[in-house]
Amino acid sequence: MKKLLTILGSTGSIGTQALEVVDLQGYEVLALTAGSNVEIIEQQIRKYKPKYAALADEKAAEELKIKVADTSTKVLAGLQGVCYCAGLKADYVLNSIVGMAGLEPTLTAIEAGNEIALANKETLVAGGALVTKNAKNKGVSLLPVDSEHSAIFQSLQGCADKKEIKRLILTASGGPFFGKKRAELEGVTVEQALNHPNWSMGAKITIDSASMMNKGLELIEAVWLFDMKPTDIDIVVHRQSVIHSLVEYCDNSVIAQLGVPDMRIPIQYALTYPNRIVSPVKQLSLTDYGTLTFEKPDYETFGCINICRDAIGKGGLYPAVANSANEAANLAFRQGKIKFLQIEELVGSAVENAFSKDDYTLADVNETDKWARNYVLSRI
Ligand code: NAD
Ligand code: MG
Repeated sequence: MKKLLTILGSTGSIGTQALEVVDLQGYEVLALTAGSNVEIIEQQIRKYKPKYAALADEKAAEELKIKVADTSTKVLAGLQGVCYCAGLKADYVLNSIVGMAGLEPTLTAIEAGNEIALANKETLVAGGALVTKNAKNKGVSLLPVDSEHSAIFQSLQGCADKKEIKRLILTASGGPFFGKKRAELEGVTVEQALNHPNWSMGAKITIDSASMMNKGLELIEAVWLFDMKPTDIDIVVHRQSVIHSLVEYCDNSVIAQLGVPDMRIPIQYALTYPNRIVSPVKQLSLTDYGTLTFEKPDYETFGCINICRDAIGKGGLYPAVANSANEAANLAFRQGKIKFLQIEELVGSAVENAFSKDDYTLADVNETDKWARNYVLSRI
């Protein structure tokens, strides 16, 4: 029988690549959701004929309803509509929403007992304790889609005892500003920051890659996905993005996953695990690359990584603060309201001035989110 799949964030970079995987594997699409892109989701509705579709933006949802009135797809609106889709019984819910807007839909999908293919790292950064606890209680898997975490997940296959794992090593491309010093980052433009050397991604994560906040978020994501201490996770800059991440075991054996940088590999693996199936992704030719390089991150220039490391070290709601402050600062930079280096300043200062508690609820995370966004906006 065909696998039933819901995609949250279907119009984005990961969402559209997930639908390419669907085209090849012939999954049945149960529901599609997005933020506000009427045009793309209309095309997707016509092609994939989902039972439900939802747009978080209520006005856009009204428009979509009229546009697809001739189809059998029921259109829903708002966060409630997105959550309704997430909560429908499916084989997998792939969450490729950007930002912590994905947290509530993830929790809803878990509550319904759906397996989660998770690209939306902000969900784990903001609400990792809730998400992992609920997933465990419901017996559902959190299957990583983020390439580094998929690499670790793949490198962990065959690990008989978690005690044998010594260290996780996340690779980082270094982004468009690799090699630059702080003074050189002073006046960089949005266009320069959006020019990623290896990956074509949504705007928010591309800016996060330029500031290396992305690696900080991924460190926190790895803590929750693999139940590791932040001090047992290292980061190595690897410019070619061929080795997607590594696991070091107690015998000092290191196992890694390699491949060309193409998100369709980790997306597909999340949906076919524990099996592998043929993929149209280009074969890796090590000899074409010739050289693979490895360097220590420049923590002085790219301070966001250590802000995230501190935040997860302190625990509680601090990672949520770092994430929401970054969402607000990242957007403000893209809108031309702040300079590039202010992203780091604002995120660091929000974490320093925040309040936290250890046992948090979804309401606490949402309140923290509001606080951190207001904190950043009030300083712009
Ligand atoms: P994107 O901006 O291209 O797409 C985001 C999707 O989320 C779109 O469909 C958009 O309509 C939807 N969306 C936006 N705001 C929403 C809201 N408030 N409510 C509901 N839906 C909303 O982003 P992307 O690059 O595809 O990234 C998606 C997630 O995957 C992010 O968490 C990112 O960090 C992660 N990720 C992306 C890549 C990549 O290669 N693009 C790689 C690894 C991880
Ligand atoms: Mg990644």
